[in-house]
Amino acid sequence: MKELYIDFDGVILDTIPHLYKAADEAGKERHDVAFYATFDFKKILKDENILNDSINCIKQIIDSKKFDVSILTHINSLQEGIDKVEYIRKYFKDITIILVPKQISKTKMIHTEGSILIDDYAHNLREWESEGGISVRFSLKKNGKGFLVIDRLDQIIDMF
Ligand SMILES: [Mg+2]
Repeated sequence: MKELYIDFDGVILDTIPHLYKAADEAGKERHDVAFYATFDFKKILKDENILNDSINCIKQIIDSKKFDVSILTHINSLQEGIDKVEYIRKYFKDITIILVPKQISKTKMIHTEGSILIDDYAHNLREWESEGGISVRFSLKKNGKGFLVIDRLDQIIDMF
């Protein structure tokens, strides 16, 4: 089985537009960690924000038995991490969830060599590849930005 790490924001749930809107309305920079640390994620950790049937797709990926699946997500605050775990546990009782402080690269928390990362953020994918990992971009517009690209998570099953 291949190690597969799936990003959360912008891959499993469509949280990013809500976060940017809140930052804009508060007159904050869109990458202001301190602002997002105060943001109540419970407001956006909702089924209506599920991206392209991501929850069912992850179940199919697990059922394929081709991958050892973990969710790898950056967090701006401990509370955000707690809220995300609570949301994910509604659907997955024993999937591995790795919470990474926003200030640290995902590559610093994981054995990257030969592992797959699905992420929407090209910066994360570049770092992953430079550490020997395999990068796959999640993009609803199928814009790979130079990486393998999928717009539904279950597409990963036939890719490897
Ligand atoms: Mg993301």
